[in-house]
Amino acid sequence: MSEDICQNLSTLNNRITEACKQAGRDPKEITLVAVSKMKPLENIKEAFGCGQIHFGENRAKELQDKMEAYEEEQIQWHMVGNLQTNKIKYMVERVNWIHSIEKSKYLREIEKRASRINRTINTLIQINISGEDQKSGCEEDDLEEILTYAQGLDHVRVCGLMGMASFVDPEEVEKVRPQFQKLRQIRDNHRKFEADNVQLDELSMGMTNDMEVAIEEGATMVRVGRAIFGERNY
Ligand SMILES: *Cc1c(COP(=O)(O)O)cnc(C)c1O
Repeated sequence: MSEDICQNLSTLNNRITEACKQAGRDPKEITLVAVSKMKPLENIKEAFGCGQIHFGENRAKELQDKMEAYEEEQIQWHMVGNLQTNKIKYMVERVNWIHSIEKSKYLREIEKRASRINRTINTLIQINISGEDQKSGCEEDDLEEILTYAQGLDHVRVCGLMGMASFVDPEEVEKVRPQFQKLRQIRDNHRKFEADNVQLDELSMGMTNDMEVAIEEGATMVRVGRAIFGERNY
């Protein structure tokens, strides 16, 4: 099935505008991260051609390959998937945002590698908001230690929190609202750990199915794949 990516983006941006209107928010507050995992570079180029700037990938190798193959300065690349320490040194050469920090050791590795090439990487701390064991992210109780650790770093900015809600059918999407409320609450509870390079303004939450609910609950970044690029074939 061929997708009209520009048409999909336009429909999606209308969804974002409408959700903002419902929530009394300004659509400019929302950054759309187009999650292009498992999709070819041509799809990314097409989306960039119709104005999409932020792209997200969830596998280090795939992100690396795409960043190297498509040297477009204006693109902001986001890593949204699980991290491994040994992949970070390649990633920091080009990536702009890493959404999936769940341990200070990843911040330490980013600092070490980014300092050598004098880059500063934007990061988000991922919280396990679904409570499911197989879901990634740290617990609320780990956050104080991670934020305090980040305060001492020179090549890492912490910009906020990221969360992934439980997978539910589109008609049951109300079920995940408390998970988004929880992420926002955790953020509000940790404002006291803010510093020059630690600000908690960003909330990365909401995907194709639950984006509207996330925006109503304060999302500033939505990570959307299927609504732009179509279903993925696993
Ligand atoms: C795949 C993925 C998304 C996008 O999901 P869709 O349902 O395709 O919108 C968002 N965030 C992460 C971390 C992902 O892995």
